Amino acid sequence: MSACPPVETGPVGVTLARLGRATLVGAGPGDADLLTVRAVRAIQSADVVLYDALIDPAILDLAPIGARRIDVGKRCGRHAMQQTAINRLIVKEALAGAHVVRLKGGDPLVFGRGGEELDSLRLAGVPVAVVPGVTAACAAAASLQIPLTHRDMSRSLHFVTGHGSDGSLPNHDWAALARSGGTLAAYMAGRTLPAVAERLIAAGMSGATPAVAVENAARPNERRLFGTLADLPAALTKAGFVGPTLVLIGAVVGLAEERTALERLAA
Ligand code: SAH
Repeated sequence: MSACPPVETGPVGVTLARLGRATLVGAGPGDADLLTVRAVRAIQSADVVLYDALIDPAILDLAPIGARRIDVGKRCGRHAMQQTAINRLIVKEALAGAHVVRLKGGDPLVFGRGGEELDSLRLAGVPVAVVPGVTAACAAAASLQIPLTHRDMSRSLHFVTGHGSDGSLPNHDWAALARSGGTLAAYMAGRTLPAVAERLIAAGMSGATPAVAVENAARPNERRLFGTLADLPAALTKAGFVGPTLVLIGAVVGLAEERTALERLAA
């Protein structure tokens, strides 16, 4: 437990319990080289690492040999640990004196339930730090080499989820999104994209708006599927992307070189 503070003695000579700490660390979209230096340092000083599914083993290898690695993510045929159980586990380990690193895909505070973990830690009086990570929308844009915002084409960026807490499509303000003229980054929208597109088109967004689905963004096995808001949902269902998939919708998607080349071919 290298990173734990030494046992302290209180003013009246009472030995205080050794208190650990927790760090919520953004692991970025996949590859270890998209970690921040601060994330690497936090992982290197961990006593316990709690990690999600799809975290690159090379990232886990950064933890000290003696650190415990606990998989709390979802895997085929096995359920993920419940969020409340994860919250309890982080608190328990930190109260026992460990430096707990909670390693989460992308950024821990973007659709990552990091807020719930922060609440539990604060409630228990555990010191906590957060290390930001590269979120999927930024990773996908970098990979496609398109801007997420553009002074002429897109003056805002909206992170939306396609997956509500009960699994159905959340009740977004579709009219406001359609009217915004900005870029939409739809997380967890692989299955609900047909409904997302239907709502946006019904709310007035043009079906011809460029859209792209990026599976495994910034990983060696990345795949992209370009289309329009109207035709991407069916194409995506057909393509059967199974890895984490982000959908970008907006005029900026039209700036991708690959798409432009495809359009030239089709013309
Ligand atoms: N905290 C994460 C998001 C977690 S929600 C972040 O900031 O990126 C999980 C969703 O994120 C997935 O369903 C997918 O939509 C998106 N996602 C995460 N990693 C991705 C990747 N490498 N490529 C494409 N989408 C990804």
